[in-house]
Amino acid sequence: MILNAFDLHDKVAIVTGCNTGLGQGMAVGLAQAGCHIVGVNRSDASETRTLIESLGRRFLGLRADLGNTDELPAIIDSAVSEFGRIDILVNNAGIIRRNDAIDFSAKDWDDVMNVNLRTTFFMSQAVARQFIAQRSGGKIINIASMLSYQGGIRVPSYTASKSGVLGITRLMANEWAHENINVNAIAPGYMATNNTQDLRTDEQRNQEILERIPAARWGQPDDLMGPVVFLASRASDYVSGHTLAVDGGWLAR
Ligand code: NAP
Repeated sequence: MILNAFDLHDKVAIVTGCNTGLGQGMAVGLAQAGCHIVGVNRSDASETRTLIESLGRRFLGLRADLGNTDELPAIIDSAVSEFGRIDILVNNAGIIRRNDAIDFSAKDWDDVMNVNLRTTFFMSQAVARQFIAQRSGGKIINIASMLSYQGGIRVPSYTASKSGVLGITRLMANEWAHENINVNAIAPGYMATNNTQDLRTDEQRNQEILERIPAARWGQPDDLMGPVVFLASRASDYVSGHTLAVDGGWLAR
């Protein structure tokens, strides 16, 4: 029956950057659907651990700075030695730097590109190699943005990285679909997390953004639970290379 296709009981999901925000919301959503979670964080993730374990699911907490790719092999090894397999990867960890394009520094370019795009690619590659070794197929879900479609303002490296995420989601999907690996992305709209704290405290920007969102509210981490469970489950087996906007209608305006 169709609802069984959404069941993720005992699947193993790696979620990067799940100590807070959208990553925490998606980790809890996946655990509610049955997953055990491998959380990859540079900060303490004990709040997420408590939320996952209270659902009766296991949580393996790993610490890594995803600004470089040195620690990726150890992440895969730890996940496989704890659970024996990996089924799902959510590349969520991401950062943003704001400054006028005319003044933007090389450091703000590289820092953002490294976490948001370089690590997303090499983490996906490492997990896809594991899926192929397991002969299991698997699900990769990248976190894109409205700036995968639009130019934005004062966030050049973020726009470059998130536009790149949309592109490599398609590329990886094209190369790995025949291995039963689904690569898709979620493009959140304007969501109430640390990432948008500056925008929400600027009264004028906050008002401008709210007026443009047909749903007339900021998104919440819980709004990503349904989409991530869908893309992580058998229910989406023929969805490949797609970036799903979850934006309260922002792009429809
Ligand atoms: P957030 O609350 O700032 O969370 C970002 C997460 O990424 C945190 O867990 C953070 O860990 C982690 N992270 C950042 N740099 C890292 C690094 N070098 N190594 C390991 N972890 C790192 O923001 P969010 O809004 O939930 O963002 C989650 C994702 O959604 C990002 O990819 C973001 O670009 C994307 N997104 C957000 C929005 C929005 O409106 N909020 C819209 C579109 C897309 P720390 O806590 O240790 O920094």
